[in-house]
Amino acid sequence: MSGIRERLRPLWVRLILGALVALVFTSALRATYGAIHRNNNIAQLEELNQRTLQRAEVLVDYAVETLADLETSGLSSCDNAALKRIQQISLYRGSIKDIQVLDADHGLMCAGNALSAELGVANFDFSAAFPAIQENIYFHDITRNNSGIFGVALHISKDTTYLAVLNLDSLLFGIFPEQVRQRARADLIMGEGVEVASQIPDKISTATSGEQIEFVANSERYPLEVSFSVDATVLDTWNFEVKNLADEISLVLGLIFGWALLVYLSRPASFVQQLRRALLNGEFVPFMQPIFDISSGKIVGCEVLMRWVKVDGEVVAPFSFIPTAEQSGLIVPMTRMVMVDALEKLAPRLNSDKNFKVAFNIVPVDLVSESFESQVCKIVKDAGVSRGQVVLEITERQEFPDKGKAISTIKKLRNLGFRIALDDTGVGHNGLSNVQQLGADIIKIDKIFIDRVGVDASATTIVQMLVRLAHELNMRTVAEGVETEAQLSALDACNVDEGQGFLVSKPLAFAGFEKLVSEQAFCAWGAGIKDFAPKGFPTTDAA
Ligand code: C2E
Ligand code: CA
Ligand code: CA
Repeated sequence: MSGIRERLRPLWVRLILGALVALVFTSALRATYGAIHRNNNIAQLEELNQRTLQRAEVLVDYAVETLADLETSGLSSCDNAALKRIQQISLYRGSIKDIQVLDADHGLMCAGNALSAELGVANFDFSAAFPAIQENIYFHDITRNNSGIFGVALHISKDTTYLAVLNLDSLLFGIFPEQVRQRARADLIMGEGVEVASQIPDKISTATSGEQIEFVANSERYPLEVSFSVDATVLDTWNFEVKNLADEISLVLGLIFGWALLVYLSRPASFVQQLRRALLNGEFVPFMQPIFDISSGKIVGCEVLMRWVKVDGEVVAPFSFIPTAEQSGLIVPMTRMVMVDALEKLAPRLNSDKNFKVAFNIVPVDLVSESFESQVCKIVKDAGVSRGQVVLEITERQEFPDKGKAISTIKKLRNLGFRIALDDTGVGHNGLSNVQQLGADIIKIDKIFIDRVGVDASATTIVQMLVRLAHELNMRTVAEGVETEAQLSALDACNVDEGQGFLVSKPLAFAGFEKLVSEQAFCAWGAGIKDFAPKGFPTTDAA
């Protein structure tokens, strides 16, 4: 995750990503709107097709009703009154063009309209009629020229049949909107594929996609079917009056989304993210503070103290980032990085002086983690340094998550040759019980006791007691935070073995530390505390 954020950090990457997201979002919105719109159009066209069939059914219903009403009208006499009645009906009832009276053999007896009589006689073939569900009703193809004219016959009696000649053409497809009609073909089909009426576009539109969408509606009562096929482009264009608005809304939403992403990616990194980035940039570097022999002044090793050296050169002290690093778990990779770096730099000295030691601070959760032992062994091996020269400082200040595991790990590490130092001794939660339980090699007496040693009798007593305890348990002692010569004398009098403090030097970057250790070869006090000459030593971090 942090790696991804790192890669997204340059402004141009964020801008491209924002634009890309805006584009994708806009297209996705348009596509979604398009799909919804298309589905709506399909549903509407299905509905129109169904309604067209219903219109045809209603017109047939109307014709059948008219014929049934004529049952007792004496139409079969074909006299003048009957013909007049027929002509009246065709004049008033729009879709009924004529009524013919047929005899028992379905021969034409008479018709109201001479032309229809001619057509009926010329083309009438009762054996080819299509029966309706309702008894005694038959559908006839009269003209066979797709004119919209067809016949609906009602058998009045064994001897008489009335046939209504209907024309639905003009009425039928009128409900389809103009825009659709121009790109669609619609057919009213009778029985098994007899085309009764068709609506064909005047001219084939150039904007056809080639793909046709078909809608078919079948009557449950009559042998009628309405089929409708429309060019697929209609589905995307019809009813699209709001298209431009939809496009604009999609674009605005897309831009808002892209912008929101840009803002999100550009937000300042959290402190943990800053630490992650610093880790990737290798900004955590080892500083080294000398550990010296109290009685001779000789530098016998160092403690590695981490510093965050930012790109602008600012050096950040651990108290402002170590707690967050511990909470986030980043302290583990940070510690490894610093260990690798420090061992690589110190390897020549460690190898040329086998008594020289280097100490690293290890947090309790790291110590008891599964991979600790193997990872540290590998780092030390890769650096070509012997494990006996590496001291692992474990602080007393924090509780161990698993004391039993800590004890067994410490035992294993000591067997592997590592030295264990109990850091900040005397200020922890468990009094002095850790000193005995954990089984360390060194105890580091906390600065709060060293500050008052030689001045405050109780502080001196505590130091003496810790030294006695350590020596009884075969451990060495290191005094932390030695700042004055008076403290040095008092610690020497208490038999403290080693010291660490600003009296000799603050933690230094490697170059400064190396210089200090080389020069110190000539000025260690050796003969006694009085001869101690710290003045020539650099004492600032900048060295
Ligand atoms: P610590 O392990 O107790 O380290 C000793 C601290 O005392 C260091 O502070 C050192 O600069 C300071 N000190 C040494 N001599 C004197 C002195 O004479 N006077 C005064 N006033 N201070 C002295 P620093 O370097 O600021 O480190 C603070 C703490 O940060 C360390 O306390 C340690 O707990 C933690 N720390 C530093 N580096 C690492 C690291 O690499 N890993 C882990 N886990 N913790 C680290
Ligand atoms: Ca320490
Ligand atoms: Ca300490």
